[in-house]
Amino acid sequence: MTDKVGIMWFRDDLRLEDNPALHYLCETCSSLVLITNPKSAEDRRSLGSASKLWLHQSLHSLDKNLNALGHHITYFSQDPETFLETLCAQFPEAIFAWNRRYDPVSIQYDTKVKEMLQNNGATAKSFNGALLCEPWSVETKTGGFFKVYTPFKKALIAQQVIDEPLGIAPIEILKPIDVGNNEKLEDFDLLPTKPDWSPSLKAFWQFGEKAAHDRLNIFIEQNIDDYAKGRDFPDRTKTSFLSPHLRFGEISPRQIWHKVEFEKNNQNIDEKNADKYLSEIIWREFAYHLLYHTPNLSQKNFAPKFNVLEWRKDEDQLELWQKGLTGYPIIDAGMRQLWQTGWMHNRVRMIVASFLSKHLLIDWREGEKWFWDTLVDACPANNPASWQWVAGTGADAAPYFRVFNPIIQGEKFDPEGEYVKKWCPELTKLSPKYIHKPWTVPQLLLKECDIILGVTYPHPIIEHTHGRTRALEAFQAIKEYTS
Ligand SMILES: Cc1cc2nc3c(=O)[nH]c(=O)nc-3n(C[C@H](O)[C@H](O)[C@H](O)COP(=O)(O)OP(=O)(O)OC[C@H]3O[C@@H](n4cnc5c(N)ncnc54)[C@H](O)[C@@H]3O)c2cc1C
Repeated sequence: MTDKVGIMWFRDDLRLEDNPALHYLCETCSSLVLITNPKSAEDRRSLGSASKLWLHQSLHSLDKNLNALGHHITYFSQDPETFLETLCAQFPEAIFAWNRRYDPVSIQYDTKVKEMLQNNGATAKSFNGALLCEPWSVETKTGGFFKVYTPFKKALIAQQVIDEPLGIAPIEILKPIDVGNNEKLEDFDLLPTKPDWSPSLKAFWQFGEKAAHDRLNIFIEQNIDDYAKGRDFPDRTKTSFLSPHLRFGEISPRQIWHKVEFEKNNQNIDEKNADKYLSEIIWREFAYHLLYHTPNLSQKNFAPKFNVLEWRKDEDQLELWQKGLTGYPIIDAGMRQLWQTGWMHNRVRMIVASFLSKHLLIDWREGEKWFWDTLVDACPANNPASWQWVAGTGADAAPYFRVFNPIIQGEKFDPEGEYVKKWCPELTKLSPKYIHKPWTVPQLLLKECDIILGVTYPHPIIEHTHGRTRALEAFQAIKEYTS
């Protein structure tokens, strides 16, 4: 141990355990400064409203954990490059450390900051705290990047680094340093005020590192053994709900991987279901792989041939979709779940995304933007990659001609209509036979169920076959144009 000062810059890694940058500083320094800029929008896409709420709660939780160990976070609002330069002058020869971000804009910014620090005589170290494998370390045989999931998965699993042990950072042995910056978390206006829509989200979620591990443990104890089948049914809580915790780095994918592998190897959980779960964690890795190799994943079609597609501009229909008033119960239930909890079930995300980009032929970027603002797990990699996958403009084998039928999807994955009833209570009295197509209900029965179409619940904003045919024609035209 030296008498070096360590400066830890927190970003998307809001945890103490298995935090490689923090771990490194604990091994090499004797005193510690912990900093973060909760706005941090100078260099990248600014956070959506639901993510800001999560960030506030998560930082609050992290600071509390740090306080218990005698440390605290210094919040700063200055541009990070300027603030770090000031710290560099205050602590010559300090060691700065952070965990990497992987979108091209952030990489460029972090590289600039690293150079500035090194030019000023400081040491700057960056680490992988967010992924199982660095996106550049997984390559095709010809040295390119993967555009298809299955070979990517095989190549990733072949990498031994996943199995490396997890690090623990004993920060209590380091002396805390106060750098005299008095900004407070509350000063950053991350919480909604007018109106304050946070109560329903706060009631649904627990925030922070401990909550993330509690979620993982509950999932392993109660749900993982039914994951492969159960994950497709939105009224069952068979998924892990770890996405926002992963997004903000309250838990690392390596921690999840190690825990699931451990339980599997000790035969405490079913192997097939465990592997299915881990394969979803690898989908997240794949999305980061694409993000790293594709500038503007949230802005540009991954497959450029779709640039000529003529999307419809229809503000009214977009708004009806956003508000969950399309007249298709499974879509409306999903959009309302999103609004009230900041999260939506994966199966339903696919159905609503397909409906927007295919039936309504509205640009997938509009949907991506809405998800970015309303999801607590809004992720710079998963969100655009998944939107492009569903729209058919992205990587991997997601054919553009696949159009989800919202009625059949509802009947298949919400057969009793329990999910719809939960989020669209005005349809509660409908039987499973009608719950996914209220416009087919005989008038007399509608009355008995207290439903007046167009008043208590909307008529469908588009007829299914018409929407499907129009989408196929538009996408087919691209094929003909480019072939
Ligand atoms: C249109 C669309 C937008 C999406 N936007 C996001 C987003 O912004 N952030 C986000 O984390 N996920 C996104 N997803 C992927 C997926 O829907 C969520 O990760 C999942 O629903 C989160 O719930 P969970 O943690 O209970 O998932 P689980 O089923 O328990 O999965 C565990 C973890 O694996 C990863 N994962 C699971 N499914 C996928 C998938 N299809 N693609 C990539 N990673 C996956 C996530 O990190 C997830 O937390 C999107 C999917 C679609 C179709």
